[in-house]
Amino acid sequence: MAGFSFEVEARDGRARAGRLLTPHGEVETPAFMPVGTAGAVKAVLHRDLDEIGARILLANTYHLMLRPGDAIVASLGGLHGFTGWRGPYLTDSGGYQVFSLAALRRVDEEGARFQSHIDGSAHLLSPERSMEVQMNLGADIVMAMDECPSGEAPREAVAEAAARTTRWAKRCRAAHRRDDQWLFGIVQGGIHPDLRETSARELVELDFPGYGVGGLSVGEPKAARGPVLELLDRVLPAGRPRYLMGVGTPEDVVDSVARGIDLFDCVLPTRNGRNGQLFTSRGRLSIRNARYRQDPGPPDPDCPCRTCRTTSRAYLRHLHLAGEMSAATLMTVHNLFYYLDMMREVRQSIRLCRFEEWRRRILHRLANAEQDGS
Ligand SMILES: [Zn+2]
Repeated sequence: MAGFSFEVEARDGRARAGRLLTPHGEVETPAFMPVGTAGAVKAVLHRDLDEIGARILLANTYHLMLRPGDAIVASLGGLHGFTGWRGPYLTDSGGYQVFSLAALRRVDEEGARFQSHIDGSAHLLSPERSMEVQMNLGADIVMAMDECPSGEAPREAVAEAAARTTRWAKRCRAAHRRDDQWLFGIVQGGIHPDLRETSARELVELDFPGYGVGGLSVGEPKAARGPVLELLDRVLPAGRPRYLMGVGTPEDVVDSVARGIDLFDCVLPTRNGRNGQLFTSRGRLSIRNARYRQDPGPPDPDCPCRTCRTTSRAYLRHLHLAGEMSAATLMTVHNLFYYLDMMREVRQSIRLCRFEEWRRRILHRLANAEQDGS
């Protein structure tokens, strides 16, 4: 397809470093995508995102179809024209948010009927409607609609959801008509190896240019994740991008890169930033802590981001406690920088064939960091 390509250029163990080309620019992988829920990454400007090196953003279909409405976004030039972000976008299918946010939802073979969490209006999100919305939004990468059961769902429900996800993937492919978008399928199957393998094989048969891994980070035991990803590394085509949806902490990201994942998104750096929780090279830091009241030091002494170059812990703590909006901005900038800088180190260490060594070092550092950062 014109304007798209993906190439794995270096490997270290299962970890891969590569390059994803889209009509709106190139993304080096493994990559982390900041979450721009309603067409904006909360609390920061595109200018900030450019400065910290964000390359690809995620936007949420569910939120944008309800407000301002996908037809309005389409009439204003799609997400790129509407928001002014020039780099690539990825949109999710909307399904996950219907399952987690909407009231009075009912899911059947047709799709998910639900009431908007904003005004209570009734909607149907079907595979066809998800494709229509995502074509209107115009992201570079769009996701097939899947059914994502909770991590505690019984095996039978997980099997049914995975089978339905394959049927919906076929409907999405039939309904998707933009050749300037890449449509990825989503593998389901929970923590059950046989269900995961069946789901992956069925989707590979449909020949998607990339694959999402859904249904992890939804309350399943964390130890179950590694074996699932290792299995998928064997089943999914080696030359296509893999996107682990909604995962996670720095430790989770590093461990999933080690199992062959290329793309990540998670609200942790942005949500935690707004809540005064910072990821630092010395562990996590809660800016509310009274010990920072007169602390003139930067949030993270090892971080070169704009926040760490220009503000003290004492000032950030004051802004946060006073409810100043700039507190959220400053802390989101730092947290996203932390994640994106970690991904730069990930890519570099894979290319130098030193990823395992780097991974052991950073995991050791994170495990031994003080809970409170200094
Ligand atoms: Zn910083």
